[in-house]
Amino acid sequence: MYKGFNFTHDYKTLPRTFWSPYEPEESEAPEVVLFNNHLARLLDIDEKELENDAAFFSGNQLPESAVPIAQAYMGHQFGVLNMLGDGRNVLLGEHNTNGEKFDVVLKGSGATKFSRQGDGRAPIDSMLREYIISEYMANIGISTTRALAVVNTGEHLVRQTEVPSGILTRIASSHIRVGTFEYAARQSKDELKALADFAIERHYPYLSPLDEEKKYLMFFDAVVRKQAELIAEWQAVGFVHGVMNTDNITISGETIDYGPCAFIDVYNPDTYYSLIDTEGRYRYKNQPPIGQWDLSKLGEALCPLFNSSQDEAVKQAQEVLDKYPLYYNRKYITLMGNKLGILDMDYEDQYDVQMIDELLGFMFKYEADYTRTFRDLYLTHYDKLPMFNDSDFINWFEKYQARKKAHKASKNEINTVANAANPSFIPRNHLVQKSLDLAVSGNYGELKQLLKAVSKPFNDKLGGKYLDAPGEDDMDPNFKTY
Ligand code: AMP
Ligand code: MG
Ligand code: MG
Repeated sequence: MYKGFNFTHDYKTLPRTFWSPYEPEESEAPEVVLFNNHLARLLDIDEKELENDAAFFSGNQLPESAVPIAQAYMGHQFGVLNMLGDGRNVLLGEHNTNGEKFDVVLKGSGATKFSRQGDGRAPIDSMLREYIISEYMANIGISTTRALAVVNTGEHLVRQTEVPSGILTRIASSHIRVGTFEYAARQSKDELKALADFAIERHYPYLSPLDEEKKYLMFFDAVVRKQAELIAEWQAVGFVHGVMNTDNITISGETIDYGPCAFIDVYNPDTYYSLIDTEGRYRYKNQPPIGQWDLSKLGEALCPLFNSSQDEAVKQAQEVLDKYPLYYNRKYITLMGNKLGILDMDYEDQYDVQMIDELLGFMFKYEADYTRTFRDLYLTHYDKLPMFNDSDFINWFEKYQARKKAHKASKNEINTVANAANPSFIPRNHLVQKSLDLAVSGNYGELKQLLKAVSKPFNDKLGGKYLDAPGEDDMDPNFKTY
């Protein structure tokens, strides 16, 4: 035990090809700049002892119970397969609490066997961005890895400009990625099977007792469904992940690897924020089909385990993959119904689906803010909607009111669901960017205020700055909608 961390080293029970020991690299003058007290309590670790433990969170002084390793994986990056692995992550072990296991990972602590030309370090602003956004996702109930702490290492990195480097302590139900299976499929069949059994035991234990004939296909089906539903959650809240490479897609169904991600302001399905994504491969509207493409790579990797001829296995994988649109649509339409206060939305009903499409059409036409439009509809602040005087919109609105009345849920129930589906606050990019710029220069005031808002996404009294759509002057010229 180290200050409440109850580590096991399950990942090290996998064949040696899946991991590599990590030799810790010292940080010069580490200092804890953010610590997540709430998460510490959930994990049942020693909050007061850990909150200033820069030696631990930098990896400078790890207890014997932490045995750092880097994980091996591959990944299709923008469609191209590469050998990757944890170039700047190290897994300290799995923390065991209340019958659950949590990976504890330091991100940015130094170079590993998989760092290639990289330095294993991370700019502090990108670690802080991951902290803000992942905590927000957790607070609105979207499955995600979480952030326990960020340290400033006291060292600088030269990227486009000189920035302090930071280390994020990330908590995840695991770090097994689609890319981990792409890697496993290129090792021996026994190794592939070892990883699949490990992932099943960890995330889908109810499949463990099944015959091999069924087990691996049902595992694939379970992951397809988890990911389809996760991406539906992203779409409903307007989240653009930014780098949906197969190494950033988890088997657990948690959102992972927050890079150039952001929430859409104005509704425009072509929105993306990543400067490295020159073609907009990962723009908002592409996320659902890209998710299916990424999962096709998992299906290909798993085929040898399907206990049938190669042709038959490919057919079986395809049949599972073909269920993705069903899993996605069912979830997405339900979530959009929740946003509108219609709790019996039917994804197979053209009328229901069209109602959503039409509303999005009005938002696009009027360049309406996605989050505000839904919150204002929920709060019945109709006069604030930019399209409210449009006669076509008034027709839509009447249809909507009639549809809403047609189902039997109680007012109370509708309110509870619709409130939870329509955050008032989202960590808008201009707010995030400003707080990060200040933090990089050592001023954390703005960031800490923002984190207070992150913890109260449904509070309509946070103050205009946090709730309003960005004005012209707020737009970061580096972050465009293409
Ligand atoms: P990411 O963009 O975080 O998903 O990373 C993609 C791949 O690049 C992963 O294999 C990372 O471990 C690796 N990587 C990213 N940044 C660095 C770095 N500074 N040093 C070494 N490897 C890195
Ligand atoms: Mg990654
Ligand atoms: Mg990474």
